[in-house]
Amino acid sequence: MGAPDRRYPTGSRPAPPVGTAPMMRVRSASDPAPGRLENEDVVFRFGPLVGVLDGATVPEGFDTGCVHGPAWYVRHLAARIGLAVAARPAATLMSSLAAAILAVRADHGGECDLDHPGTPSSTVCLLREGGDQVDYLVLCDSPLVLDTGDGVGVVSDDRLDAALADLRRTAAALPDGDVDPVTRFRRAVTVQRTRMNRTHGYWAAATDPDAAYHAVTGTLPLRGPGALRRAALLSDGASCAVDQFGLFDWAGLLDVTAAEGPEGLVDRVRAAERDHPDRLRRRKRTDDASVVFCEFGPAE
Ligand SMILES: [Zn+2]
Repeated sequence: MGAPDRRYPTGSRPAPPVGTAPMMRVRSASDPAPGRLENEDVVFRFGPLVGVLDGATVPEGFDTGCVHGPAWYVRHLAARIGLAVAARPAATLMSSLAAAILAVRADHGGECDLDHPGTPSSTVCLLREGGDQVDYLVLCDSPLVLDTGDGVGVVSDDRLDAALADLRRTAAALPDGDVDPVTRFRRAVTVQRTRMNRTHGYWAAATDPDAAYHAVTGTLPLRGPGALRRAALLSDGASCAVDQFGLFDWAGLLDVTAAEGPEGLVDRVRAAERDHPDRLRRRKRTDDASVVFCEFGPAE
């Protein structure tokens, strides 16, 4: 590396020279839960930017204050993220996400109560290729698997899991009396909603742009010994292959996705949901499943 280039202010960088950027090959799949018509996940690619969003399902009978719903929310947030990154390519992913959340507030129009605790919300997993390096952002429960020269690792935001575990402990300590399971579930959802986008709670994209600044972010090189080789952006309906079903480890997930494609990984999850429903810790027996798989380096 030479001396720092002083023509560019801190936080921005020049576009890579044409023809020298390592190529990013992208494959993706997004599959609604079997038996459901609407997919509340979205996968997207806008030039150098790829992403997975997983909208929070509204439990039956719960109000949201919004006339649109989770599928509308993730589609608008994806479009607004793409626009924000295109408009300011040198901005951080955090700042582009904050701008996108703000823009979707306006998209709701005047009809929705944007302060409602059940307002539509989403996880965010983003990766942007930028010449010599890659930036990423993970917010809430959509992990990013990375294969670099140093090995395979996963970037995850565990605050939702921690908040849910805390709620379970609190619920277990309360006398339940004759409370039926439906009432218990309604109470749990209500309490979970009060934890979203609050200190000591968990953070998700909804209507508060500040949530973007609580994301887990990082940068990886695309050259040299620690260079990024492969990355998988996953909704929890796909990452459950590893962290709930134990079908393989994270390296195995990348190998299966490389060999069988993102659809192949989703097929494995669907088979596991049918064969081993007992292994799922989450409330839903099946879920929307999304995978964006990126491979870097010269075309083969
Ligand atoms: Zn709305």
